[in-house]
Amino acid sequence: MNTPLKDILIKRIEATGPITLADYMADCLMHPEHGYYSQQKIFGAEGDFITAPEVSQMFGEMLGLWLADRWYKMDKPNNVHLIELGPGRGTLMEDILRATEPVPDFHDAFTVHFIETSQQLRALQAQKVPHATWHDDLSSVPDGPTLLVANEFFDALPIHQFEKQDGRWCERRVHTEGSDLTMVLTSAGPKFALTNPALHGGPDGSILEVCPAGLSVAGAIAERLFAYGGAAIIIDYGYRKSAVGDTFQAMKNHAFCNPLEAPGEADLTTHVAFDQIATAASSKGAAAFGAAAQGPFLMALGLGERAQQLAAATDAQGQERVLSELTRLTSSDAMGTLFKTLALQDPKLPAPPGF
Ligand code: SAH
Repeated sequence: MNTPLKDILIKRIEATGPITLADYMADCLMHPEHGYYSQQKIFGAEGDFITAPEVSQMFGEMLGLWLADRWYKMDKPNNVHLIELGPGRGTLMEDILRATEPVPDFHDAFTVHFIETSQQLRALQAQKVPHATWHDDLSSVPDGPTLLVANEFFDALPIHQFEKQDGRWCERRVHTEGSDLTMVLTSAGPKFALTNPALHGGPDGSILEVCPAGLSVAGAIAERLFAYGGAAIIIDYGYRKSAVGDTFQAMKNHAFCNPLEAPGEADLTTHVAFDQIATAASSKGAAAFGAAAQGPFLMALGLGERAQQLAAATDAQGQERVLSELTRLTSSDAMGTLFKTLALQDPKLPAPPGF
């Protein structure tokens, strides 16, 4: 299938040679005109995929309580930056704000900051959280105590992939093949140095992934937490311990497709290597907790009780809906096990709930 972005990429590759997977992912997701996140109708039942906050209001409510608890443990500073990375439709922050409204003094203590590159999604977010301030990245958020949340943000950051061939690690790059795109092996670029050396011994055909953008965001979060205090909660699908393997995938209309087939028109993601994120954050002074599986994490925060409360206030049909949302968020054949949560904190804070 030819897409406008495919034509642009083919011309570029013909002019400059094969491009890294990271460059390919960045264009497919973030190209200002043709990138996947430049569209608006991508989330939810009618979109290509559905995220936890779009599944249930209870997800944001639990995270809101987690953040309020951390604020208490920080001794209730009154100049907090409540930051969300990649807010999508703004649903998660809307739920967080509603759930924490009754917490005394909390809402007066923070300002909301959204890190979002897509202008189209910024417009949707503004409908739900009009008083937020938007940023392209963390660097422009003013200094100060921080509470941060990121759901399904790290899985969208561009990765590099390396494959072993004849005993040597090569970089997988995207090349042209007539009017199609294909993956080729080329000499490994400098980002290979960021891969986990413990995984270098694999046999020919092994694939290694690294997400330099994710590591640097984790480092930037950790620097803030260490310097000004605070806590961050990161939720995504991925591994606790990184392993060899190809996790690059594309989704369109709730089904997997070939990631090189329709650039800009499918969502591209990879599994997050939580150990690499935690190590990057620890090296900048933050304490890391987890990764814990999402199901037990949410249940430890009181998801079961909240579901009972909602069920008690509705009719039989509503109860069925609440139960199916609960199952979807927590069961191991839905989002409960594959999705994980990682907390990063100022090391002076006591351990967070749910880990
Ligand atoms: N958190 C939301 C949306 C997840 S989709 C939810 O749970 O529903 C990923 C989000 O991250 C989108 O809003 C996308 O535009 C944003 N995003 C992806 N890469 C980004 C980057 N490099 N910088 C800023 N935002 C990014």
